Amino acid sequence: MSAPQNTIAIVYDYDQTLSPSYMQDEVVFPAFGIDGAKFWARCRELVRDHGYDNELAYMKVLLDTLGMDRPKNSELKKLGAKLNFYKGLPEMFEQFRNGLLSAEHHAHGVTVEHYIISSGLKVLLDGSRLQPYVRAIFGCEFDEDDDGRIMFPRRVISHTQKTQFLFRINKGLLDMSQDVNDHMESDIRPIPFSNMIYVGDGPTDVPCFTVMKKNGGQAIAVYNPDDPQRAGFRKCYQLSTHADRVKHIAPSDYRPNTHLRLLLEQMVEEIAGRIVERRKSAVETGTVRAPKH
Ligand SMILES: [Mg+2]
Repeated sequence: MSAPQNTIAIVYDYDQTLSPSYMQDEVVFPAFGIDGAKFWARCRELVRDHGYDNELAYMKVLLDTLGMDRPKNSELKKLGAKLNFYKGLPEMFEQFRNGLLSAEHHAHGVTVEHYIISSGLKVLLDGSRLQPYVRAIFGCEFDEDDDGRIMFPRRVISHTQKTQFLFRINKGLLDMSQDVNDHMESDIRPIPFSNMIYVGDGPTDVPCFTVMKKNGGQAIAVYNPDDPQRAGFRKCYQLSTHADRVKHIAPSDYRPNTHLRLLLEQMVEEIAGRIVERRKSAVETGTVRAPKH
């Protein structure tokens, strides 16, 4: 039997996409008195001189720097409550709960779900004010030793691996014990790519932008409009204008009536409209039951 495919997924990167800062700088370093400049310099050294992946480098430097003071995951989770976001968040998620979809969309069972895929630490996002609105958060994770202190990476999500999680959302395989590579016919995948919108901020999101484009999904690259150096804007401009990686770019302002909100709402509306049309024609041909009014 085919899946109803009436869920719309908005998938977000985290650092620089939902937040103007990096989560480690914002909440982890102040809590443990870590010098951010030294920390990232050491990470760059590991990448440059020792061939480390970026994500494994920051996880190793964090463990090395904390040494005996390594916290528990539960302590990191508490720090996540201090994370701050771009303007309009988390309010947008609340506003999207009521009023984004019409009565007709609801009658056909259309829903919107939010997901975060980050190369940062999942546990911080689990403790954040965004968590209640998000169906699933994917990020790097530490295992704990016998004393419950963080000790070794349990999961690392590099920017190229982020695409795997788009397929997990597409196939509804949110449990990590399920193999994302298992074959699944397109009509039983719960969230087709045409029902997905990806929001990211730059080069590290290019693999995800590419997957969305190839599979008929939508993507938006966002930039911090308050950065006087315009670094984010330049990255986005390059990706859309010269590299043709992403069609839409917008300032990372999630408040109502901003360019980003208009794009997101328009995309959701169009996808929802398409779902309703498809279901109406399926009702006519008798393959699904009419919605109850
Ligand atoms: Mg980012």
